[in-house]
This record gives sequence, structure tokens and C-alpha cells, in this order.
Amino acid sequence: MTPQPPLVDGFGRIGDDLRVSVTDRCNFRCTYCMPEEGLDWLPRDQLLHFEEIRRLVGVFVELGIRSVKITGGEPTVRADLPSLIGMIREVGPELEISMTTNGVLLERQAQALAEAGLQRVTVSLDSLLTHRFKEMTRRDALSKVFAGIAAADSAGLTPVKINCVVIAGTNDDELVEFARWSRDTGHVVRFIEYMPLDAERSWEREKVVASSEVLGTIGATYPLVGLNSDPEPAASFGWQDEAPGGIGVISSVTEPFCDTCNRLRLTSEGQFRSCLFALDSTDLRGPMREGATDLELADLIRAAVAVKWEGHRINHPDFVRPDKSMSMIGG
Ligand code: SAM
Repeated sequence: MTPQPPLVDGFGRIGDDLRVSVTDRCNFRCTYCMPEEGLDWLPRDQLLHFEEIRRLVGVFVELGIRSVKITGGEPTVRADLPSLIGMIREVGPELEISMTTNGVLLERQAQALAEAGLQRVTVSLDSLLTHRFKEMTRRDALSKVFAGIAAADSAGLTPVKINCVVIAGTNDDELVEFARWSRDTGHVVRFIEYMPLDAERSWEREKVVASSEVLGTIGATYPLVGLNSDPEPAASFGWQDEAPGGIGVISSVTEPFCDTCNRLRLTSEGQFRSCLFALDSTDLRGPMREGATDLELADLIRAAVAVKWEGHRINHPDFVRPDKSMSMIGG
């Protein structure tokens, strides 16, 4: 397929960042994401095979995608993930390839993933306290996650960023502790607002800790300086005293960044979504398995991007949650 014009939507935004979910399964059961018993996992034949992911990523590369983030579920539970990373690297030698993970299997996999072409990881870490980590994830795995972060550092999957979902009354008393940890370790911690995407539908607005509050609490102890925001949705801050590390805030609920959103998503069963909160998706797996050409797949993608909506409507009375939760879409 010859190179195509970029993926532009009706509001002039260019989609050039693709989240690729490689599984809907997860080895954690974070209370704000998934029920204790798990979900009804997709049957294996409904998951995209590695060859199919490689082919679709190749089509996206021709459509101007510049970065791919591997996600899930938990991507490291997909067998032989380094092979898939190698295949993606092959179709996109210039692609920025990163992954978001809970980190528990990184100690074993970091080196192989880096050798296959992965450049960076973001590790989700919602508590620095052993007992609370266990309560929030329903897994007693904090030390494993720290080992995973260290392994990612050693393998050069750097900078290892940390994502922390802040939930009022659960872990919002750890903000200053996270800031201290960031200063000690040099890892940037990004605080994410809790979104209405949990499978058990127990999200309430009262449980959202606004980014402004996060910045106020941390800044009162460790004064902050705003850094030039990169094109990422996270607003970034360093320390006035120039200590290592720093923080970011992702204000998906209180200050949505839809007007600059460049993200697109491919679910593990081959559904294309132009927004995390989209109510519909475009099936790419079906047409691909029925023999669609790359050009036909590109046309399907382009048509879906063209009608990307202006933004999610969490703050509007007519907000409707998508029927799929975060782990099923690929966070
Ligand atoms: N398992 C991988 C991980 O932990 O990064 C990738 C998938 S996970 C669904 C991606 C991110 O979504 C994690 O940082 C997780 O904390 C976050 N997440 C899950 N449910 C969320 C929710 N309801 N609101 C905000 N973030 C959520």
C-alpha cells in the first residue's frame, strides 16, 4: 500500500497514536477496574493473532501512526509477547513502541521485550503500602512490581513512568508519599483521575480526586514548577528545588483534553475505536478474515476516524457509559 494522507477527523485532529490491546485478560483484579472473579474472557479464536496485529499495525503505519502503546488487560500475560513486539518493530522501524503494564511480570520479561524493540514502559502503581496495594489490586504483589520497575530500568525501557489512579477515600492520603518516592527514585508519577469505566459500575463523581487538588496537596509540601507540556494529555511538573523525578496529572474527568486528542484504539478482538468512551466501534477482524485488502482496511479506518466525536460527555447530563469497561477496551 502506498503511503496515505494522515488520519484527520471532522474537528481537524490528527490521529497518530495507536493503543493496541493484545489481550482482555489480566492477572490483577483492581477494585476500580474488574470484579474479583474476572470477566468473561474472549475465546481464543476471537483474539487477533500476532500476524493479524502485525498486518493491521502495518496499515496504521501507512496511515501515519507514529506511536504504538501495547496494552490490555495485562499485556504481559499474552504468551510470547516479545515475538509480537519484534513483528511490530519490523513493520514500523520508526515507530515509537511503548507498553503499559501492572509490572508484576516485568522482572522476567523486560530484557526480552527491550531486545525485541520495545522502547519504554509505563507501570501502573496505585499504592506504596503493601496492605493497601493488596486491597486495591487483590494481589499481594507490591514487591514484585518494584522488582519489575527495577528490571525495566536495567533493560533500558526508560524513562519508566508510573501511573497512579487516585480514588477519594482509598489512596488519596498517599499523594505526598508518592511525591517523596518520585524525588527519591527519579521516576515521574502521573496521577490519573478515576473514570467511569469500571466493570462493576461503582464509579461515583465523589470518588474522583481532581487534578487541581492533587497539585495543591503535593505543591504545599514540595513546591512545583510547570514544565512545557509535551503533546501528551498529562500536564507535567518538576520540583522548584530541582530534585529528581516529577509529577504529571491526567485530568480526563475535570479538564478533558478531547480537543487535542490524537489517540486511536484497537481492541484485542480487532475492534477499532476512535475514543475510549466511544459507544460504537468498527470491526476490522471480520473484514480482514474475509479477505479485505489493506486498502479496504485503511478505508474502514479512515471512515471511522472521520466521524470521531468532538469529545466524551462525562460532564454532561446525557453522558452514556460505553458498554465495555477499561480492561476490555484497552486502557
Ligand atoms: N494492565 C495494564 C496496566 O496496568 O497498565 C494495562 C491495562 S490497564 C486497564 C491501563 C490503565 O488503566 C491502568 O493504569 C489502570 O490503572 C487504568 N484504569 C483502569 N480502570 C480505570 C478507571 N476506572 N479509571 C481510571 N483509570 C483506570
